[in-house]
Amino acid sequence: MQNIKTIGVVGAGQMGGGIALVAAINKFGVILCDKSADQQHKCEADHKKRLAREVEKQRIKQEDADAAIARIKYVHMFDLIKDADFVVEAAVENAQVKRDIFANLARMMREDVILATNTSSISITEIAAAAETARKGAGARVIGMHFFNPVPVMKLVEVIKGIQTSEATTATTLELSRLLAKTPIPANDRAGFVSNRVLMPMINEAFYAWMEGVAEPAHIDEIMKLGCNFPMGPLRLADFIGLDTCEHIMNVLADGLNNDRYRACPLLKQLVAAGRLGDKSGRGVFDYAVKA
Ligand code: NAD
Repeated sequence: MQNIKTIGVVGAGQMGGGIALVAAINKFGVILCDKSADQQHKCEADHKKRLAREVEKQRIKQEDADAAIARIKYVHMFDLIKDADFVVEAAVENAQVKRDIFANLARMMREDVILATNTSSISITEIAAAAETARKGAGARVIGMHFFNPVPVMKLVEVIKGIQTSEATTATTLELSRLLAKTPIPANDRAGFVSNRVLMPMINEAFYAWMEGVAEPAHIDEIMKLGCNFPMGPLRLADFIGLDTCEHIMNVLADGLNNDRYRACPLLKQLVAAGRLGDKSGRGVFDYAVKA
């Protein structure tokens, strides 16, 4: 594998913060860039808290935790990422924002640097095209590296090849994922990749079952947990993911696969319109204010 010592991460939110921490724990240098200084501080504080908890539980030694934190540079000037040997982008899920970031990365980074995106639904091919337009040949170095939440816990990385992605880019990304102690599985660039293509229609169907009165939400979840050995029912999982995100991904599937059978269930759309977004708003399918 080419010599990768420092990983640049764009976006220090839930996912970028997790990716940076996993990279640092696995002995990579990290340059973590977020355009919001506030978010940088929040992320750094969160890293320290998580590592302290790991030390307390004796899962990591104090000196290793200190060394991991020391490996992360928290920056908010985008161009400071230029010294990285591999980049993972985890900024907001907005196609225009990602196209701009990848055009800038293509212009700014060394010619051998792989540019990965953690997008959960935007076409890798489209992002690679923005990089290629900015710099000839850059599209071949763009790839999807889809981590799962929470990143330090979840083993899977879905590695998604765009039409332009080279074999060398794919091979290096698979190998780097293993060095991050993850299990990479390759997939091709079709709407939803594999994970959301299979998961979201199931979640959507659970909303239909509820809407049609097949069973109460708690019963739908219990049936799927006990009957299919799922750790979490589909409606509870929808709240965890965010109902607005679920609706958005259904729209991506319907548009990207040209098929109305992927349209979001009317009840899901209605809950989103009512501001019931799940855990993050305190109420979605289930009411979390009551539980607290
Ligand atoms: P988030 O909102 O928690 O974090 C996004 C961060 O990106 C914010 O801190 C924001 O300030 C920053 N940002 C926005 N534009 C930027 C720019 N131009 N340069 C630098 N920083 C910028 O979002 P998240 O949940 O961490 O998701 C990030 C990406 O990961 C999205 O593409 C999302 O689809 C994907 N993803 C999310 C999950 C999940 O469960 N949350 C799972 C897999 C993939």
